[in-house]
Amino acid sequence: MSRELGTKCIHLEEEEGCYDNYGALSYPIYQTATYAHPAVGQSTGYDYSRLQNPTREHLEKIVASLENGIDALALSSGMAAIGMMMELFAPGDHLIVDADLYGGSIRLFDNVSKKNGIEITSIDCYKENIEEYIKDNTKAIYIETPTNPMMNVTDIEAVSQITKRHNLILAVDNTFLSPYFQNPLDLGADIVIHSGTKYLSGHNDTLAGFLVTNREDISERLRFLIKTTGAGLSPFDSWLIIRGIKTLGIRMERSQENAKEIAEWLKEQDIVTNVIYPGLQEHPEYEIMKRQAKGFGAMITFQVRSRESALAILSSVRMIKYAESLGGVDTLITYPTTQTHADVPEKIRLKNGITDTTLRLSVGIEDVRDLIGELNAVFSKVDC
Ligand SMILES: *Cc1c(COP(=O)(O)O)cnc(C)c1O
Repeated sequence: MSRELGTKCIHLEEEEGCYDNYGALSYPIYQTATYAHPAVGQSTGYDYSRLQNPTREHLEKIVASLENGIDALALSSGMAAIGMMMELFAPGDHLIVDADLYGGSIRLFDNVSKKNGIEITSIDCYKENIEEYIKDNTKAIYIETPTNPMMNVTDIEAVSQITKRHNLILAVDNTFLSPYFQNPLDLGADIVIHSGTKYLSGHNDTLAGFLVTNREDISERLRFLIKTTGAGLSPFDSWLIIRGIKTLGIRMERSQENAKEIAEWLKEQDIVTNVIYPGLQEHPEYEIMKRQAKGFGAMITFQVRSRESALAILSSVRMIKYAESLGGVDTLITYPTTQTHADVPEKIRLKNGITDTTLRLSVGIEDVRDLIGELNAVFSKVDC
């Protein structure tokens, strides 16, 4: 019988009953670059840490189990993961990518992938007829759902029917919901991406990235790439993420509970003109979200009356930090225009709906009364 996710975050079933000499509960940090061979022609199975490291492998097994994949690769950041994934493609290949994406992904596709001869078409995958954009050289569709920061929700299963019909790879960046709330491989995706820096780490203390797949052929190619390009996650950072994942379940539940309450509260505030949270019934894709995810997450995008109000809010917060990133125990507020999406050309930014009045909250696990208390104090100060 398969275990529930909250349990899988803490116990890796396949390693149960295996104890080291001391019975340590915390997985050891194998801080080594290389491994001694017992004799010529013999190996412990470990040769060099770019290829294999027990601490990294332990983490990879946990993430694979959370996403129901056959393999997960741990890399030094989310962008290292996406960058390596792009090595699956060759000059002349064509990819269809979501228009509203994490700014770093847009920067990678526009500046590095295009330079490498890969053709990119950006469309709003949640509402456009994707099939119309498929060409003879199309190799993959790359989506985020919900998107960063506009919270557009794409029906993963519907897109996977298209990718299966045309023999394309479907890659889904699942950072915003974490494996605790959404499992794209179960809905027909071929590759799941995580910025492990966010919910998997959960404490804003390290960077990491993951590629998870349920396809043998893709796993084999990615294994070749990680040993060749070399951005595997370090043993200590792997250990930090293993530790972070142990509390993923309760962190996701608590931050989501806080986010629901804050989203409802934001709707009532005079200074707020628009609240975008996929857990609100008025969100246009609420029903899709409900069907394909087990939760709505804890990311809220909202708009305020003016640019001045937005800037004043950012300067006035104290406990809530004005900072990039998301998914940690601390609540953060971000200004996508000058932070996460600063390198996205203004025309595209505005087309996606990211204006100079757009703010993004990553709701943490503090007591929600204190979070609303601070927002309330900040709003009344800004308002007068
Ligand atoms: C942060 C983020 C990334 C990039 O991950 P890093 O760990 O910062 O390199 C990719 N996708 C999404 C949705 C993100 O939020």
